[in-house]
Amino acid sequence: MDIHEYQAKELLSNFGVPVPRGNVAYTPDQAVYCAREIGGNRWVLKAQIHSGGRGQAGGVRVCGSEHEVHAAASELLGARLVTKQTGPQGKLVQRLYVEAAVPIAKELYIGFVLDRRSERVCVVATPEGGMEIEEIAAQSPESLLRVVIEPAVGMQAFQARELCFGLGIEAAQLPDATRAVLGAYRAFRDLDATMVEINPLAVTVDGRVLALDAKMTFDDNALFRRPTVRELRDYTEEDPREAEASKHGLNYVGLDGEIGCIVNGAGLAMATMDMIKLAGAEPANFLDVGGGASPERVAAAFRIVLGDPRVKVVLVNIFAGINRCDWIAQGVVHAAREQHISIPIVARLAGTNVEEGRRILRESGLSIITADTLADAAQKAVDALHSVTGGPARLNGAVPGAPTLAGAAR
Ligand code: GDP
Ligand code: MN
Repeated sequence: MDIHEYQAKELLSNFGVPVPRGNVAYTPDQAVYCAREIGGNRWVLKAQIHSGGRGQAGGVRVCGSEHEVHAAASELLGARLVTKQTGPQGKLVQRLYVEAAVPIAKELYIGFVLDRRSERVCVVATPEGGMEIEEIAAQSPESLLRVVIEPAVGMQAFQARELCFGLGIEAAQLPDATRAVLGAYRAFRDLDATMVEINPLAVTVDGRVLALDAKMTFDDNALFRRPTVRELRDYTEEDPREAEASKHGLNYVGLDGEIGCIVNGAGLAMATMDMIKLAGAEPANFLDVGGGASPERVAAAFRIVLGDPRVKVVLVNIFAGINRCDWIAQGVVHAAREQHISIPIVARLAGTNVEEGRRILRESGLSIITADTLADAAQKAVDALHSVTGGPARLNGAVPGAPTLAGAAR
């Protein structure tokens, strides 16, 4: 789970990381009010979307008067900001963060990540902050500093100091900088983060050390024990399909293809996606309904898959071990009736109670195409897709006519 910059700054500041004074605004008037409350005569207005690269995209505005604050806020709020990370459709700006502007002398980069190879938390830092880390890694990899943290003892003060020396921080700023680094580490560890990035960590002209930008990502599997983090979730920033799926405890990842997948088991779901591609089409999603999927869960899965306007065919692939094919079949039939499904459904059931499951599908009177093997199912799904879209098979004339779906059911 990702959170907004202003939320990350609040969390980090609770761990002693210094940040500029700031407030959230939802309207231009609020933005002006925030600026007035913060005081001073220069402010930075920052679009709050889950994306980096906002500065280059025009989402970070330095303002020198209340009038400018109002104008910039009016421009940003309600607009879609297109950054390098959002894709061409951009992201809707619904909140702004108003901060006291600070005179920057130096911009540093510091990030905490989980390094899967060393199985440790790893700190990456470079004196060339401001830029995206991917660019720095590509352009000047020699400037990257890395510190690996021993999990048994956590980050040590000497490691933080060494890092600060490496970043060229002067003696006068060393205590503040060290405190910021150690604070960010403790926030990472104590809040079950998987990523903390401060870019830039600024040294100001008057010698202060401040986190000017902050990004945090959290381990979804640990959110149950971090209620204060969990409540920061902003569903409007997420793929609506994925947000809905997570409410039902379904493992769902939205993709761009046209064949919706309902599968049990992550491995089988991946194999199903591969087989669809091999048969010449693209999956619309990854979806693992999990073991012991009740008819209700299957129906919820259908709702989510069918809610995607891209989906032209649904492929159900269940290998029942803990699951029971008859339950899955009941779920499929229930969902098909309840939701008046008009697009082709291909179902491949195998394992526990398979005969009963097939019988339920056959006798339902619904036009469900059944398949015996995964390859067979993927091929039938792709054929059905082509018959709906008038795709390659029909154009070539290689396959005679569109299959009558009811007739194909076995
Ligand atoms: P990002 O582009 O999404 O990573 O957004 P950032 O928050 O990192 O802002 C981009 C750039 O805006 C930073 O690298 C700074 O150069 C500049 N910036 C951000 N906050 C301030 C500030 O308080 N004062 C000044 N002068 N510049 C700032
Ligand atoms: Mn940044």
